[in-house]
Amino acid sequence: MHTDLTDDEFLRYGRQILLPEIGETGQLRLKNSKVLIVGVGGLGSPAALYLASAGVGQLWLADGDKVDTSNLQRQIIYRNSDRHQSKTKSAIQHLKSLNPAVQCHPLPAVDQNVLARVIPQVDVVLDCSDNMETRQAVNAACVKAEKPLVAAAAVGWQGQLMLIEPSAKTACYHCVFPQQDEPGLTCREAGVIGPVVGMLGTAQALVTLQVLCDLPRPTGILQCFDGRTLQWQRLSTQRLPFSASTRKTFGGTSMHIRLNGNEIQISLPCTLEALLIQQEQLKPGTAVALNQQVIPRSQWSETQLNENDDVDLFRAIAGG
Ligand SMILES: [Zn+2]
Repeated sequence: MHTDLTDDEFLRYGRQILLPEIGETGQLRLKNSKVLIVGVGGLGSPAALYLASAGVGQLWLADGDKVDTSNLQRQIIYRNSDRHQSKTKSAIQHLKSLNPAVQCHPLPAVDQNVLARVIPQVDVVLDCSDNMETRQAVNAACVKAEKPLVAAAAVGWQGQLMLIEPSAKTACYHCVFPQQDEPGLTCREAGVIGPVVGMLGTAQALVTLQVLCDLPRPTGILQCFDGRTLQWQRLSTQRLPFSASTRKTFGGTSMHIRLNGNEIQISLPCTLEALLIQQEQLKPGTAVALNQQVIPRSQWSETQLNENDDVDLFRAIAGG
């Protein structure tokens, strides 16, 4: 446990120590912090660079892959000369050359044993992985160990970000996306634009600093980023079991609602589930928000739609 900052640290971190929210106290908290990053790809690259440069004391980096030519378009921690080398080994080399004080620990691709061993030792976990199986396993391990999880994903022009804090009793990843199936949209098949995955990884680093310094932060909010318009949509979530508010059925025979921003007319009565069936959207990995509140799958058949409701359908994204 460090109780002081050195002269070099005051120089190095001066610009963030100047911020009243960080100060010397916050910088010391960062120096004593331990963070696990699962996946050192498009999300993990900027996240690791920003956390190392901010002075987070210890980083665990988990990834079993080698650097491939096709990674370099977005995985900005790597250089051309790193190709065919281990990702964790190359990443640690670059992080050490950026900030020699940061202690880095390489881990292979995570399984449940690795997660159960490492997560209890760290303060925050970043899910920067690229598949649903890992996302659900990391989420379950964080819920079990009651550790904050900063989950993000990106594919195409879209990104999703959610801070889950089990001790705050907010919704976890599984409450929002209960299905274990791959959502179908992967960056290998659908492609991804580099800066979008970079923005999401950068946002993960920002939220992690907020958690480590115990600053106000967006716990339990699912934030969806659209790289075509540069807009963020914020959706509130609730932990399961969900307490549904009572909704009266609208009196007419047809009504207007907005579905993903477009006004449509539907006939009454209509539940969320009936709407998804009518719109042929009842697909694996789909989540639904009604008036900016994510509704769990178990409530779709009971939730009546009313005039002027806003319904947003979105798919789980697992890419990273
Ligand atoms: Zn949950």
